[in-house]
Amino acid sequence: TRNEEEELAALAARAGTLREQIEQASYEYYVLDRPTLSDAEYDRLFRELQTLEREHPELRTEDSPTLRVGAEPQSVLPKHTHLVPMLSLGNAFSDEELAEWEERIVRLAGDEVRHAGYTAELKIDGAAVSLTYRDGVLATGATRGNGTVGEDVTPNLRTIREIPLRLRGKVPAGVLEIRGEVYMTYTGFEKMNAERVAAGEPVFANPRNSAAGALRQLDPKMTAKRPLRFFGYAVAVPEGARALPFASQWELLETLASWGIPVAPHRRRCVTLDDVHAWAHDVEQVQRATLDFAIDGAVVKVDSLALQGELGDVGREPRWAIARKFAPDIAETTLLDIKVNV
Ligand code: NAD
Repeated sequence: TRNEEEELAALAARAGTLREQIEQASYEYYVLDRPTLSDAEYDRLFRELQTLEREHPELRTEDSPTLRVGAEPQSVLPKHTHLVPMLSLGNAFSDEELAEWEERIVRLAGDEVRHAGYTAELKIDGAAVSLTYRDGVLATGATRGNGTVGEDVTPNLRTIREIPLRLRGKVPAGVLEIRGEVYMTYTGFEKMNAERVAAGEPVFANPRNSAAGALRQLDPKMTAKRPLRFFGYAVAVPEGARALPFASQWELLETLASWGIPVAPHRRRCVTLDDVHAWAHDVEQVQRATLDFAIDGAVVKVDSLALQGELGDVGREPRWAIARKFAPDIAETTLLDIKVNV
């Protein structure tokens, strides 16, 4: 009917506006490292578009930001193609949404999922990178970029002292990619800004964007002056590579630590989803305030790597992991209102 047509046209227009706003925000966030929206506002727009596209599949477009990871790399930095794509994560904004995620994966992989347990980790609010090690020696380091192709920032990553140039202990031969997050501590960030004020230079808006910006500098000497840190949380190997010496996400984290990779100390092996809820609440309400770095949630992963493989990925995210997002940190969101230069 005419009414339905009009309604659909209005929804199509809304979807178009949302896509434009999200594309613009992603460009400012990923390419310029200078967002103008808060993360909570961005998440709201993204959610609205996802819901519209789910309820009205005819409004979906091939170039929708809901299908993509990050943004196209646009700098003059050399490009790096990841061995295995770097994905994003789905979001759960409440315990109910987290429970719905478990129901979905139980439908796909059976009740076994419920008994296999979860590893819950901090969701570090930094910039994702991939470190390629060849026979245990750091060969390349790259940003996530659009998930398939990132920027080669090897000289910059080499300035981060806690990233080992050679892994310790027994490391499988061949190529492997260690994924993690480059971030700044609040202490390092504040000290850096105080020094900039003293030198008459503009201050940075927040640790996340200064970390992402510092990582993408053309001159590694500039990067070396910024207090960058690293936490690892994933390992990727090319297909057909030899088996890795761990069978679960929990063991993966322990192995990374044994190789000399910094791993966030706050993590929990959970038997049931109730344990996950309890841990996530504790992190949000108690632990978060004691951390010297920004987090924006907890990441929940099906612990068994075999089950992870069975569940696989869907579009831009793995089915076997999800981000349990927290309410935005007031202190961080208000910072965006202050006009600053990067
Ligand atoms: P995401 O940040 O919500 O989640 C995926 C990322 O989480 C991974 O790529 C990884 O880098 C990171 N991560 C941190 N700790 C992890 C752990 N322990 N295990 C696994 N991954 C971990 O998704 P995204 O696609 O990177 O970006 C979307 C988010 O970025 C938005 O929700 C918003 O917060 C922010 N954003 C903001 C704007 C803005 O304008 N303010 C624009 C674009 C994106």
